Formats: sequence, C-alpha cells, structure tokens
Amino acid sequence: MRPVRIWKKLLALERAVVEEVELEQGGALVVSVRPNARERGRCPHCRRRCPGYDWGEGRRRWRALDLGTTFAYLEAEAPRVQCRRHGVVVAAVPWARHDSNFTRSFEDQTAWLAVNTSKTAVSELMRIAWRTVGWICGRVMAEQQAGRELLAGLERIGVDEISVDSGRLVWAHPGRDRATVEKFLELLGKQRCEQITLVSCDMAEWITKPIGERCPNAEVCYDPFHLVKLATDALDEIRREVWNDARNAGQAQLAKELKGARFVLWKNPDRLTERQKLKLARLQEINQHLYRGYLLCQQLRIIYRVPCEHALVLLDAWLTWARRCRLAPFVKLAKTITKQRAGIEAALRHRLSNARVEQVNTQIRLITRRGFGYHSPWAVIALAMLTLGGLCPPLPGR
Ligand SMILES: [Zn+2]
Repeated sequence: MRPVRIWKKLLALERAVVEEVELEQGGALVVSVRPNARERGRCPHCRRRCPGYDWGEGRRRWRALDLGTTFAYLEAEAPRVQCRRHGVVVAAVPWARHDSNFTRSFEDQTAWLAVNTSKTAVSELMRIAWRTVGWICGRVMAEQQAGRELLAGLERIGVDEISVDSGRLVWAHPGRDRATVEKFLELLGKQRCEQITLVSCDMAEWITKPIGERCPNAEVCYDPFHLVKLATDALDEIRREVWNDARNAGQAQLAKELKGARFVLWKNPDRLTERQKLKLARLQEINQHLYRGYLLCQQLRIIYRVPCEHALVLLDAWLTWARRCRLAPFVKLAKTITKQRAGIEAALRHRLSNARVEQVNTQIRLITRRGFGYHSPWAVIALAMLTLGGLCPPLPGR
C-alpha cells in the first residue's frame, strides 16, 4: 500500500487528499490535506457549490484523534466562497464540522465519551477542557438533531421543567414559563399539536393554558408526583406550625423531637427502619394533628398504587376526610383537588407513567450536575439530548 493511502486509513480521511505528513518539533504529527475535487468550494450550510471569494485567513488546523500517544493535526487552506443564500463563508471541509477546530471523528468520540463516561475521563483522555466538551456536544447535537425528526408522531407528552416523551427526551429549552411552552408548541406546529392525545404535567397554569388552547384533542393528566408533593408540602406546613407552637411554649424537648421527625414523615412507611417506626408511634402520642396529616398524606399516595376503579372510590373517600379534617392546609388541598378533578382522574385512568418522566428527570439532574462549568444552559441541554434523546453518535469507525 502506498504511504499516502496508509495515512488516509489511519486518519479515517474520506473525500480528501493527503499532501504531506510532518512531525513537528514539539512531537505533534501534522498532516497537510485538501478536499478532493468533488468536495471543493462548497457552502458549509447548504453544501451547494459556490464561486470562490478569497483565501480567507490562510492555513488552518484541526485537531484529529491522537495516533497512538501522539497529538495529530490536519492542516489545510481555508478559502472563502460566496454562497447565493449564505453570503461569504469559509468553504466546507469533509473532515470537520463548520466552525470547529476539531475533526468530525474527534468530536464524535468526545460526544460519545461525554455520554458514557465521567467528566474527568473525557477531558483527560481527549486532552481538552471540560468547557470544550460542552461546545463539542452542542455542535454534535445540532447536527444529529437536524438529521432527525424528533417531534414526528408524538401522541403522549409529558411537560415538566423538562419536556419528555415516554422516556425519550424530545425537546428542552432554558426557561420555566409560558413563553417556553409556547415555543415548544410553535415548533410542533398545528397539525402535530392536534395529534397529541395525552399530556402529563403539573397543575401550573403556565403549562395547562397554552396546551388547552393549542392541543384540542389532548387530555391533560396531572402528574401524580406533583399531587403527592402538594400533600407532603401541606404536611410540612403543619409540622412547622406545631414545632413553632412547641418552641414558643418553651417545650424545648418536644420541639427537638418534632424537628427530627421531618425525615420520618417523608419516608415511605414500608421503608421505615424499626427506630423510625418507633419515632412515628411517638409522634402519634405527642401530636394528633401532625399524625392525622401524616395519614392523609399516606392515603393520597396509596391512591396511585391501586387499580383505577378502586382509586376513584378512594379519592372520593379521601376528599370527604380531608374536607372535615380541621387541618387548614389539607382543607385547602381538598379544594384544589376538587377543582382539578378531571386532570387527576385522567392520570388515574390512563396510568400515564410518571415513573418514566421522573426517571428522565433524575438523569437530567445528574447531567446538570456534571454540566457544572459549562458555558451556557445550551451545553447542558446538548448533553441531555445526546444522552436521553437517542442522539449520541457511535464511536468513529465502528
Ligand atoms: Zn449556502
């Protein structure tokens, strides 16, 4: 095999010609290349062949995958072309994405590692800063997204601080307001909005209003997770009240006990340790109100664990109980539930799996934590889309 062909193979270069290979003083390998005749003079945006404009800023370098332990760079002219639609732009090269100083395979491998390994592993192995990983993920995601119709055929969607569809993340955007939801629906378009049959979300009006207006066939289901959270919030309100009363009355020991009870009250009863169970029993002794709140909270949780027809009966019984419980936060919650009953029943009937939404949320939270240090929320979103939207490219050459 001729040496030039071996270099092409080693660098996984396609549609390009190797001109020269040099070992620099610092030990890095620099390979001079040029696009082949068919690839020359194309616009990076529309791939159209365009007339040349000028030589741009001279020769440019792209970092390529290391060859063994050696740094490797591709070097080439970077002339500019004049596209009818995109104006004067640097001509496209087949080995790299537009506006990048890395080769395509370098970026693909980085994105794959960002999805599949730790933060340190990516930066150390690829020998780039974590911030750079963020930029790369953004470019890879944009390209993968453009090639695929993520929003096609959506029927059931979940809207949270994060938008997800049955375990697949389809869209994410910074912002937690009506404008963000509107933007998503706008992107979905009228026809696809009409196809949506189920939407799982919380009771916030900034979500439900625009969905009600634009998705005429959608049945809105209130996410059980949020409902249970409202109940635990109510319980916490009572706990704080009781604790404050105890403190103000100078009952330091009682106050201390109540303060420590928070965790016991929040935990699932079947996961309580023996010591925690004792603590709960003690709570029943020392404060009836708080214990009643606790039972109300648990009962509401159970509603989501039984078959639908039982659940509806239980919900009725719960409402009757809560309305008469003489605990202001729960009386208020009963009112909210009565008002939003349709959406709550829909969630029970359709069993819209929020476990999935929650699962995605947990993963996103992890990604967000890893994304700390990125330049913008978009980098975090890119990493999330690559990981949870099925956009991660395969390792180069596999
Ligand atoms: Zn163009």
